[in-house]
Amino acid sequence: MKCRFVAFLLGTGLAVPSAPHPYVDGPAGCVFPDPVRAVGCVTAPTDWLVGQVRHRLGEVPGACWDAHAWNPRSDHPHGRACDYTIGQIGVFPTETQVARGWRLARWLRTHARALHVHYVIFHGRIWSWEHDAEGWRRYDGGGAYDPADVTGGHFDHVHVSTVDKPPAVLFPAAAARA
Ligand SMILES: [Zn+2]
Repeated sequence: MKCRFVAFLLGTGLAVPSAPHPYVDGPAGCVFPDPVRAVGCVTAPTDWLVGQVRHRLGEVPGACWDAHAWNPRSDHPHGRACDYTIGQIGVFPTETQVARGWRLARWLRTHARALHVHYVIFHGRIWSWEHDAEGWRRYDGGGAYDPADVTGGHFDHVHVSTVDKPPAVLFPAAAARA
């Protein structure tokens, strides 16, 4: 037990979190109060995802709804995205923190179908259904962010976007391969 705890602290031997309960159905729109902060709203799949992350990975600090006025294409003001802080915002994470970030990011991708995940961005990389065959691609900032910046390149947080409809319906070719 002690060894497992030490391994956890060192960021090595992190156990893979178990599978989430899949999202099934819910009301349309940005109708749930933000489950992380007291402002804004999230969609039913986002609300479900937040609950499953908490259930399987414990408390990871983060934020979902946000005006994100500087990025008109953001999913945050629609309640379809959450940012999970890895270490401290504005600071490049340690190796241990990076390992924990990838643990969350990979878990979200692995269970993208069950959790209605659309895409995940972390540590200068992005995975999306549209480019699933390419795996974790280099993240170029999407025209809105500087990918070399600690926050713009998503080094200090894991971004996850959700879709309302099942990914198997929206991205059938990729979902058939996954
Ligand atoms: Zn984000």
